[in-house]
Amino acid sequence: MTALWLKAALLPSGWQNDVRIEISGTLISAVIVGTPARPEDERADIGVPGLCNVHSHAFQRGMAGLAEHRGPSDDDFWSWREVMYRFLDRLDPDDVEAIAAMAYIEMLETGYTRVGEFHYLHNDPDGKRYQDPAEMAARVIGASEATGIGMTLLPVFYAHSDFGGAPPKHGQRRFLNDLDAFARLLGACEDILPTDGILGVAPHSLRAVTVEELRELVDMRRGAPLHIHAAEQLKEVEASLAFTGARPVEWLLANAGVDQHWCLIHATHLTEAETDALAASGAVAGLCPVTEANLGDGIFPAVRYLAAGGKISTGTDSNILIDPAQELRALEYSQRLSHRARNLLASEARPSVGRRIFDEAHAGGAQALGVTQGLAVGMSADLVVLDAKHPALYGRSGDQLLDSWIFAARANCVDAVWRAGRKLVSNGQHKDRENVWRRYKAVLDRILAL
Ligand code: ZN
Repeated sequence: MTALWLKAALLPSGWQNDVRIEISGTLISAVIVGTPARPEDERADIGVPGLCNVHSHAFQRGMAGLAEHRGPSDDDFWSWREVMYRFLDRLDPDDVEAIAAMAYIEMLETGYTRVGEFHYLHNDPDGKRYQDPAEMAARVIGASEATGIGMTLLPVFYAHSDFGGAPPKHGQRRFLNDLDAFARLLGACEDILPTDGILGVAPHSLRAVTVEELRELVDMRRGAPLHIHAAEQLKEVEASLAFTGARPVEWLLANAGVDQHWCLIHATHLTEAETDALAASGAVAGLCPVTEANLGDGIFPAVRYLAAGGKISTGTDSNILIDPAQELRALEYSQRLSHRARNLLASEARPSVGRRIFDEAHAGGAQALGVTQGLAVGMSADLVVLDAKHPALYGRSGDQLLDSWIFAARANCVDAVWRAGRKLVSNGQHKDRENVWRRYKAVLDRILAL
């Protein structure tokens, strides 16, 4: 048994002082409030629960920053996607594992304790299937086991380049499956899932699957997390209207049985009616504000959606930058810029913006990744220790700590991270950072020289 004593901790009941958290194996076995530290306790200042990163394409971390110069055509999501296709042409399974491990270390070091890996790189560089259908999935699982981050694996079904079953393009050959091959992939993933790993399913988007395929995919893992990209770009909304007569989210809500197991990634372009209906569905909106800003996607209507009781979570998506505080900051700032007002994702009852969006992202993230979480007995011991001596946090208490972490600090507020009972990050650094960095560096040296 390990015991961690905290001056202050954010428990399900709110902020509490002098908190002793006992950890047995991977789980929290006791939480005692208002108690002095014992000599054997590890002491820390401020403890908050770890966050779920609901949407990651880990391999894209290796190309972060390489698509930030202006190209010959209109520079939007679609030109970024061309750079991404060229980058992934070069990656073998070892490369993907090395890049994913580096990304997962950055996630842990910034306060994420579980990742939803939206995994769509299945085939070899020629587009041929590997002998083991889970060859690539095993690599992202391997990276999660090597770094210790919790894994909700979301194998992606991708078969078409546009609505109506349009044939796939050359750049998409590494993603493709048919339903039989995909069922084999899910079976193979089940066999290699880590102890507290969760296996969901991810129809890529309404562009990449037909209506019939979507129906079968929903049936393949009923009750498990189901993630889908929806309404990220206006071009997709227009194509959906042209093909189905409905907008993507409108169509999903009317036809696909969207419920609390679903996570709609982005859901950027919503009418007011769609916003309210999505909020009422019980599904989670998987927002990726940093990537959405980077790609020029648009702004999610978070004020209306939260007022309607909608559930949100955040993800790092393209991994252009990995940091939950920056995602939450970008989420609030996008609302401020579009509404020309301040403190929008708060309410009279919940006046701290930082606390409100942290709580929403924590609860929605856990729901979207199929886990229950928090600093309570029986939960996985996933805990983030903030550094009370960081200039941005000094002299703060309670919700001010979250407001200052999210809005006033650069990246180095996280002092330590515990995940499934193990202390993986100390003094802001993951214990295996050096090894993972060396391997990552060797991969980048090689593929960037190609
Ligand atoms: Zn994505």
